[in-house]
Amino acid sequence: MSEQIPGWFTEIFQDQGTGFSLKVKSKLHEEQSQYQKIEIFETETFGNLMVLDGCVMLTDRDNFLYHEMMTHPALFTHHAPKKVVIVGGGDCGTLKEVLKHPGVEEAWQVEIDERVTRVAEKYFPDLCTANNDPRANFFFGDGIKWIADAPLESIDLIIVDSTDPVGPAEGLFAVDFYRNCFMALREGGMIVQQTESPLLHTSSIIKKVHDDMRQAGFDGVRTLPFPQPVYPTGWWSCTMAGKGKKLEFFREEDAAERPFVTRYYNAEVHKAALALPEFMKNELDLD
Ligand code: SAM
Repeated sequence: MSEQIPGWFTEIFQDQGTGFSLKVKSKLHEEQSQYQKIEIFETETFGNLMVLDGCVMLTDRDNFLYHEMMTHPALFTHHAPKKVVIVGGGDCGTLKEVLKHPGVEEAWQVEIDERVTRVAEKYFPDLCTANNDPRANFFFGDGIKWIADAPLESIDLIIVDSTDPVGPAEGLFAVDFYRNCFMALREGGMIVQQTESPLLHTSSIIKKVHDDMRQAGFDGVRTLPFPQPVYPTGWWSCTMAGKGKKLEFFREEDAAERPFVTRYYNAEVHKAALALPEFMKNELDLD
């Protein structure tokens, strides 16, 4: 839900009794796509802002935190990811980070709403700089079906960069979807999913994702918290799991010597993100 005070964009989290506001200079774009209302604002201090159905998706200023943490920890934990599939991620920021890895041979962005990508190309050109990379492939349609139809054991890493678990994204937070991901992954393959706020969602969404991923056959489920100022509570998480892989180690030396620029991710940040706060360990029943 969102309510507008003149000159500001505000997202209200009614059930939390909180909200988040950004001072805006102008509204650059508004449309109702087949799936959602897409709005773009120019803000005073956070660059351009994308809003889907009243929910903040990303800003120019802080999206690097989310996109780097949704990608590099998983890509440096898998031993040699060659084929990567992004489910959702229509703004192309995750695709851009994935394609920074020279070992990736093929990346797919499977986004249900083509309009999100077209609008991102216009208003977030910096996120779309890898779209013409010959390794980049785009499919516009439902990621749940795409994964169900994917050939067995054909993918190394699946990144679920979705909206909140409502509407078309609801089925992306479900054991049936994880089972299909498990079957589509090669041995040693991995899944990583955005899993909302540690403060708000550990005992609900994050706990359910852990249980569902284990039930689907995955080993070594791990949640990594990271800052994300424009999302509810300013604190977000991703959860990764391995197929026949415990995720105890990552390629620390490769991460330290990565041949590309990051702004948040490095090997120390990766290690630190693997340390869970006490309340999360308790609520997730971890030792
Ligand atoms: N970082 C954002 C966040 O956590 O709020 C998400 C970014 S990205 C814009 C999310 C995308 O997931 C949206 O563009 C939405 O259309 C897409 N999406 C939702 N459900 C989907 C599905 N079933 N298959 C493919 N894409 C889906």
